[in-house]
Parts: sequence; structure tokens; C-alpha cells
Amino acid sequence: MPSDKSVDLRSDTVTKPGAAMRSEMAEAEVGDDVFGEDPTVNALEARAAELLGKEMAVFFPSGTQSNLSAILTHCQRGDEMLVGDHYHSFHDEAGGASALGGVAYSTLPVQEDGSLDRDHITAAVRSDDPHYPRTRLLCLENTTSGRAVPTAQLSAAAETAREFGLRVHLDGARLFNAAAELKETAACIASVADTVSVCLSKGLGAPAGTILAGRGEFEYAVRRNRKILGGGMRQAGVIAAAGLYALNNNITRLAEDHGRAARLADELSALPQGSLAELSQATNMVFVTPHESDLEPLHRFLARRGVMIGNRRPTMRIVFHLGITDEGVTEAANAFREFFENDHSTSAQ
Ligand SMILES: *Cc1c(COP(=O)(O)O)cnc(C)c1O
Repeated sequence: MPSDKSVDLRSDTVTKPGAAMRSEMAEAEVGDDVFGEDPTVNALEARAAELLGKEMAVFFPSGTQSNLSAILTHCQRGDEMLVGDHYHSFHDEAGGASALGGVAYSTLPVQEDGSLDRDHITAAVRSDDPHYPRTRLLCLENTTSGRAVPTAQLSAAAETAREFGLRVHLDGARLFNAAAELKETAACIASVADTVSVCLSKGLGAPAGTILAGRGEFEYAVRRNRKILGGGMRQAGVIAAAGLYALNNNITRLAEDHGRAARLADELSALPQGSLAELSQATNMVFVTPHESDLEPLHRFLARRGVMIGNRRPTMRIVFHLGITDEGVTEAANAFREFFENDHSTSAQ
């Protein structure tokens, strides 16, 4: 458990609702959302559809369930989806598409800019042959490993998929981070896809919830699949109020998180020469690869200093969010500096 004083950089999922968000939650008007009668859920869905430029939006408990519901909407049992080999919907969702949907994953290598290559997509689409599964869906991701994928690339991948009659789903868990970085609207980015999933529970700061938005014709199937997956909630307005607050108040501030990530990267780039094997920054994330012999001592040192970083190895992922202040950046930078300047490291100098 992090103490009150720790700087928790493990993920942007660790954000906690503040007083203003909690007050919206406490005062939310509610009804039975399975009957379509929760006014706060309805208001959130309408607002999200508007921001994402889609005809419909449906509130989900989690991004994993939202992605799976989209996959089940686009694919039948025995179908196949194309997906980046380290995209969340393949790598981090417990194989749900195949476990529950009978859908096969066909993975493509993620390109340097985070997109999928047109030629790889073309080569992966199966011809109509009784030996083969039917390729039905292309699943994209933005941001991916923190990178905001250029919209031209995302759009080229989607267009290629459409030439073969595939549907396109965009896992935009951090879509608003991509929009802030690219200085485009979320709706413009989302327009490449038939359905788009956006998490309210990450940098936007809501305690739970994800939106699945898309063309109106998918709404019935999306809601039905949510029900199949156990995601029909009742007086969900209490949670939706937090999401609505997040959409109305926490989108424009995402650029501050990107600014703080850039500042930390800047400070780390000024560490004694050779301290780190690799360092990069993208949107709200900083990636640090220490030399092998420093890995465990550095993690322990940072933890003792109250700077919490997730346990990915060998590259550490440092994630900024609304719980991190300018002082937090300074504390994190100072902790790194102390480690490398005060001889805790075995490989620097
Ligand atoms: C967090 C995340 C999700 C959804 O995760 P949940 O924890 O199920 O809400 C989906 N895709 C990406 C890229 C994510 O980062």
C-alpha cells in the first residue's frame, strides 16, 4: 500500500476521486440502468457519444469487458481478428476473445509508430476457403505503449482492413491522451473505427468505467453482449457521475501530465553520462531501462524513497496522472539523481 506521501507512478489507474467528483457521485440521480432508466448513465452515454463523434455510446464496468463486447459484436465463433502483438486486447485481456467468443487471434508486429503495417494486414487476411477461419476484424490501439499513433497511419491500417470487408475496432483506452498529443479531436481519431473503447478510469480519474462508442446499428448487439458478460449494472449512475465529471473536467488537464512526464525525462537525461541504458517519453509515460546490475537496487532505492514504479522489467514504465504534482516530479527526479550520483549504482561513472 502506498503511504500518503508516496509518489505513485505505477499506473494512471491508481487515481482516486477528489472531493468535487465524489460530491457529483453522492448527488447523482439514479435508476435501473438495465431498464435504461438511470438518467446519469444516460447523460454520460450521450456526452461520450458526442465527444467521440459516434451515434451511440454504452457504459461498461471495465475496458476489458468493453473490448470483448466489441469483439463479440463484430465476430462469430470460428472467426479471426487481426491485432498488434503487444496490444492490450491480445496481450492483457486473459484471452477473452477465444475463451468466451471462440474467436482466434492473428497477431501482427506493432510498428515503431505504434500502428500496424498495411502489407502485414493484407498478407494476414485469409481468402475464402473452407480450411481457414474467416478474418472479420482489425483491432487497433491508441495510445499504445504511451505513443500517440499518427492518425494517417491509423487510418491507412483501417482503410486496408475495409478493402477486405473487415470491421475496425479501436482500443482507445487512452484516446484523449492521444488527442492531446496530436492536437486533434478524439472524434477525429475515433472516426477511423466502427467502434471505439475509451477508459474513464485511467488519466481521466474516474474510479471505474469505460465507454464503448460506435455506429448506431451496433448498439443492440453491444448492450446484449454486455449483458452476456455480466456487465449490466443497476443504479450505475453513482459511478457514471464520476465518468461524466471526468469528461467535463479532466480532459484538458491531460496535457499537464504529458508536460510532467516530459520534465522528468528531461531531468533524467541530465543524469551522469551512461547512468541509463535507455530513456524515452511519450504522452504521460516515461520509459527507463537501467543497466541490468542496477535494476533491483534502483527499484529498492526508489521504493524506500516513496517513489513507486511498477515491476515491469527490464524497462521501467513511469506513468503520470492527476495525482502527481510538480513536487512529485521533483521528488522522483531527485531520487534517481541520488541513486546515480551517490554511488548506489554499480555501472555509472
Ligand atoms: C487499461 C487498458 C484497457 C482496459 O483495462 P481495464 O483494466 O479492463 O479497464 C484496455 N486497453 C488498454 C490499451 C489499456 O491500457
